[in-house]
Amino acid sequence: MSEKKLFGTNGIRGTVNVELTPEMAVTAGCAIGTFFGKKNLLIGYDARTSGPMFAKAVSSGLTATGCNVFLAGMAPTPALQFAVKNHKMDGGVIITASHNPPQYNGIKVIWSDGIEISHEQETEIENIYFQQKTQFADWKHLGAVHELAGINSEYIEAMKTHVDTTKIAEKHFHVVVDAANSVGGLAAPVLLRDLGCKITSLNANIDGTFPGRMPEPRPENLEELAKTVKALGADLGVAFDGDADRSIFVDETGQIHMGDKTFAVVLKQFLLENPNAQVVTPVSSSTLIKDTANAYKGEIVWTKVGSVTVSQKMKEINAKLGGEENGGVFYGPHQAVRDGAMTTALILGIMAKTGKKLSELVAEQPQYFIEKGKIECSEDKKPKVLEKLLEQVQGMNINTLDGVKIWFDDKSAILVRPSGTEPAYRMYAEAKTSERAVELVNEYTSRLKKILETI
Ligand code: MG
Repeated sequence: MSEKKLFGTNGIRGTVNVELTPEMAVTAGCAIGTFFGKKNLLIGYDARTSGPMFAKAVSSGLTATGCNVFLAGMAPTPALQFAVKNHKMDGGVIITASHNPPQYNGIKVIWSDGIEISHEQETEIENIYFQQKTQFADWKHLGAVHELAGINSEYIEAMKTHVDTTKIAEKHFHVVVDAANSVGGLAAPVLLRDLGCKITSLNANIDGTFPGRMPEPRPENLEELAKTVKALGADLGVAFDGDADRSIFVDETGQIHMGDKTFAVVLKQFLLENPNAQVVTPVSSSTLIKDTANAYKGEIVWTKVGSVTVSQKMKEINAKLGGEENGGVFYGPHQAVRDGAMTTALILGIMAKTGKKLSELVAEQPQYFIEKGKIECSEDKKPKVLEKLLEQVQGMNINTLDGVKIWFDDKSAILVRPSGTEPAYRMYAEAKTSERAVELVNEYTSRLKKILETI
């Protein structure tokens, strides 16, 4: 195994021309091409200013190793993932830094099923990259470069087959779409128009400097959307992240709902239609998801935190639904990956079918108070801290897939987990009262402090 890392928790990612340079992208392309071995690969990018530069650099590396490259151009990540599968490609590369600020970019590698490659496969590519094991093709066997137009329209058409288009169209929903000046604007507005919606667009022009808002759909970035939905009396607002695989919704009163709540809306309807189904979600998800699964006869399959893990597990057990608290919903009948536009169509389908507004659908759910905490912890101490904490919580209702999640009898819960990106432990507590959530974070912060003093 290589000591050095190229892939982080979200593929290869870094600031443009500082941490991630065109030279690295060419070499990464060579390593990815060697890993696949003279195959057909699709490549596309989000709206960042460096997208075409990195797409061309990676393409050069791929063709140098004999892979044929199909240039799809600018597209949402889920549209590229859908196209890899739809066009029977052997894999794909997506140039995106998802929700990061505009000075970042990244390289994601997709397998033939449209799902990101596993961490083991990433390690194989890293070994080729760092040990210079690239297998160059001779001049007669270089890969060819083709253009593949129209993947966004194919993706939009496919999504329409998974919802009741007539029922949605009858409602003439007014939807405000905040596309973050990125690729979310290339699919969702067209899909919604086809679904008979009236659309008001925010940040719809493609601009890789992201002048409208930062691409992370956090509440502080969505105030304009919330105000617009309320002021116009629209039925729904939706905001995408930079590559449009995640979506966060605003109800007709202007209230922003984080991903757990809208995932629970989708989950309830799904279980009403698919009783006893399995649903995949990371241990970071709210107890709300567990409650919904219990109430509507679903079985939760927990995973570690991370969208690739959810996708892989869905595929392994043939589950049709997955979801994350950050606004990622995975609808298997379309594709087992996060998909912002598909989630929007599902939510509209539920509003049309039930005749309920999003605020009503959310108000039906059990309510929880959330409290977050963080404590510094160096990388070398992380495993020992977890080991000591696990000794303390033995016998409690726990899950140890990723850090430790503890459920208590009063319906409160806490996840204590080493951060994947920082020298720290993070805590997410939820409870029926805010006092209890705060109390849990305080209790586990002091437990971790004491452990840190002894190791
Ligand atoms: Mg994303």
